[in-house]
Amino acid sequence: MTDLLICNADVLVTMNAARQEIAGGDLLIRDGVIVQAGLGIVAPDAQRVEARGCVVTPGLINTHHHLYQTLTRAVPGGQDALLFGWLKRLYPIWARFGPEEMFVSAQTGLAELALSGVTLSSDHLYLYPNGARLDDTIHAAAEIGLRFHPTRGAMSIGESAGGLPPDNLVESEAAILADMIRVVDAFHDPLPGAMCRVGLAPCSPFSVSRDLMRDTALLARDKGVMLHTHLAENDEDIAYSEAKFGCRPGQYAEDLGWTGPDVWHAHCVKLNSTEIELFGRSCTGVSHCPCSNCRLGSGIAPIRTMRDRRVNVALGVDGSASNDAGNLLGEARMAMFLQRVAGGADAMSAREVLEIATLGGARVLGRSDLGSLEPGKRADLAIWDMSGIEAAGAWDPVAGLVLCGPTRVRDLFVEGSASGAGRAVDDDRSSEARRTATASGPKPGRVRISGPMQAPRLLANSRKSSRIPCA
Ligand SMILES: [Zn+2]
Repeated sequence: MTDLLICNADVLVTMNAARQEIAGGDLLIRDGVIVQAGLGIVAPDAQRVEARGCVVTPGLINTHHHLYQTLTRAVPGGQDALLFGWLKRLYPIWARFGPEEMFVSAQTGLAELALSGVTLSSDHLYLYPNGARLDDTIHAAAEIGLRFHPTRGAMSIGESAGGLPPDNLVESEAAILADMIRVVDAFHDPLPGAMCRVGLAPCSPFSVSRDLMRDTALLARDKGVMLHTHLAENDEDIAYSEAKFGCRPGQYAEDLGWTGPDVWHAHCVKLNSTEIELFGRSCTGVSHCPCSNCRLGSGIAPIRTMRDRRVNVALGVDGSASNDAGNLLGEARMAMFLQRVAGGADAMSAREVLEIATLGGARVLGRSDLGSLEPGKRADLAIWDMSGIEAAGAWDPVAGLVLCGPTRVRDLFVEGSASGAGRAVDDDRSSEARRTATASGPKPGRVRISGPMQAPRLLANSRKSSRIPCA
């Protein structure tokens, strides 16, 4: 493969140990790996990508999503509900999904993430109606070309057993464990540079049994994969835990083996100081989803306190039915603002939140090969054009990236390969895809994304009609 030279960046944001920012910086890439970062790199045979006028950052990392929800944005009746009411509105719609909806939804959501600079996304798929499988989303991500950490989610306690989801969306725990083993064996790649790593992820303590939480933790350790779930999302969540389990969520997690460097929990809005201490001590990760927390009125997660107590914190957009956008740079901006609302204007800087969005994500997902632009790391990076109207007048382009924009990348590279993001977008066609997928409610059109590394090239085929009736 020809070497690649990203050259003359206005600022190369390395996120290395010294948090070095190189004005006029170059980056040399060979076989998907960064071999040199610095000034005036000479590589006459390399393919050159001019980055003058741009900020270059590590690719952003999204640590919590439910890609299947991309086809259920802004659903009437769920727009103003709290978490539990919102779920009850959407469960019957999701129950009509099948493999094609999972595939289309995942591709749409991943393309949207790519436009916001994401090179690695995790996903949490916890319902499998009508023959849907985790495989559907894995195939979608492979076609897009983003790195993917799908998690095999699960729900096993239906309404009739005192749980929240309807009975037709839950599975038997034996079937769940068997499929967890199947997908890990089929798709998990533990090697550096892996494009797909599978995690295990019962949906939440209020939708699976204590036994399944414990058995999943044992299985994950046996297989050497990570664990993920929702935890302490809002006051209802805490009340449920105390009433049902007689303890707070942090205690419940610890008792069942759900703490450690191989575990990350989404939300954690309501963790108290004892639980934050536990997470810091045990290197348990947190995926902070600020827009979703705002959308559902869950509260402001104590991220400043978590960071001060050495908790590994990353960002997540959460599912598109509770965000409803999938823009990770926007998520970073919101994360910074919410900490300022809670703790004052110096509670979190633009640079700190950019670190959380890159290096923080890599740490939480156990990817020591990602998150920074330095020799030996995989070449996942985003190039942001700062010459447009959004950033005009910005005195500090790195802070400006979070404070003002742009909100779309110019170019995106995964494993040193260009996705053609941003520039390749055909706005007319992506608009058509968007209209087809969402304008008439839960009626997805066929969104096709052409070929590997062509993430944002959305091509809608409006002739393909919906199989999902309106709820
Ligand atoms: Zn979630």
